Amino acid sequence: MTATSPPAAFPELRQAIQDLCRHYPNTYWRELDERREYPDTFVQALTEAGWLAALIPEQYGGAGLGVTEASVILEEINRCGGNAGACHAQMYTMGTILRHGSAAQKEKFLPAIANGELRLQAFGVTEPTTGSDTTKLKTRAVRRGDVYVINGQKVWTSRVQHSDLMLLLARTTPLEEIRKKSEGLSVFLVDLRDVKPGSLAVTPIRTMMNHETNQVFFDDLEVPADNLIGEEGRGFRYILDGMNVERILIAAECIGDGDWFIDRSTNYAGERVVFGRPIGQNQGIQFPLARAYVNLRAADLMRYRAAALFDAGQACGAEANMTKLLAADASWQAANAAVQTHGGFGFAQEYDIERKFRETRLYQVAPVSTNLILSYIAEHVLGLPRSY
Ligand SMILES: Cc1cc2nc3c(=O)[nH]c(=O)nc-3n(C[C@H](O)[C@H](O)[C@H](O)COP(=O)(O)OP(=O)(O)OC[C@H]3O[C@@H](n4cnc5c(N)ncnc54)[C@H](O)[C@@H]3O)c2cc1C
Repeated sequence: MTATSPPAAFPELRQAIQDLCRHYPNTYWRELDERREYPDTFVQALTEAGWLAALIPEQYGGAGLGVTEASVILEEINRCGGNAGACHAQMYTMGTILRHGSAAQKEKFLPAIANGELRLQAFGVTEPTTGSDTTKLKTRAVRRGDVYVINGQKVWTSRVQHSDLMLLLARTTPLEEIRKKSEGLSVFLVDLRDVKPGSLAVTPIRTMMNHETNQVFFDDLEVPADNLIGEEGRGFRYILDGMNVERILIAAECIGDGDWFIDRSTNYAGERVVFGRPIGQNQGIQFPLARAYVNLRAADLMRYRAAALFDAGQACGAEANMTKLLAADASWQAANAAVQTHGGFGFAQEYDIERKFRETRLYQVAPVSTNLILSYIAEHVLGLPRSY
């Protein structure tokens, strides 16, 4: 813990993650970033230590922890300078099977996900032509005997090249035949190891940060009907159900990023002497850091509130969205302040500020953009008319 750290909950859990992350220092992440490679050894170590199985109940071989503890795990990874975004979905994507899958699906998949035999960290929802308007998605799944035949396209399907399974949202009833727009979509578990040649094509997308993400094309991809999760036509609700967990966990990663930026910046501002005094003595340097810190702590409180509600089985949609927005804004504010504090060195690769700056920027857009969170709050919390 550094001088700027707040008194942290779960000190033993944090210590365990810090101990693991010590083997993957900033140089590890920097070199991967330069080579645009996946953090294989880190993800393997995290899996072997059982941390990615935090949310899987003990009866299926997981740690049976709550979202609160899971959020602390991901926060600490980012706080140590790493990027949990490379594997965070392995923690929560399985929630759709856990909450909506059949007993047979849970028995078949959860223990193997828990022990790391299977990776389920690809999640295909977003499509190029419909974007945030998820209920309009066009990828089509048609039942033919014992299989569903899938045709269409996804974009930004992350980690698909480092996953054995993909959770896929596809349309099973044409849009014009449904009564409510949330109906007619279904969730499938696609076994990527078992697809017919030519039925699935993956094209990587090069992004501003080192993030393995892709366009995915389906051409008569056959998925066994046994791999339909829950009831046909109710998939959108199942996906929505998992989004609160995703938002809470990603908020925690942003908090980890933000505190990393603040630590680095306060240390640097205390040491860098210009005009005969530390730059940190100038209010022009202090205030942006202080403001980002205040906003981080507010996001942090909302994170614990949202996670506690989720862990108690209570509604947490508003809190999960609010912490995601507060944390993404605060980490971005801290990132900007860090670049400014470091002057020219903020741009130098060896300081890692520019890498983390690029990494944390994502969370203003994904997995849900700030505008759509504000729309959610306006409509569902403030009772204002739906704007779209
Ligand atoms: C690196 C990366 C990884 C990703 N990983 C995944 C993944 O693994 N799986 C997956 O399914 N998706 C993934 N995504 C997709 C991500 O969830 C979407 O990019 C995000 O939801 C925004 O959708 P869009 O890009 O289509 O933007 P659009 O929906 O086209 O929106 C563009 C802009 O317009 C704004 N906008 C749109 N409608 C409104 C409105 N009504 N009111 C106000 N503003 C509006 C948005 O806020 C946004 O700023 C990833 C994206 C990125 C960049």
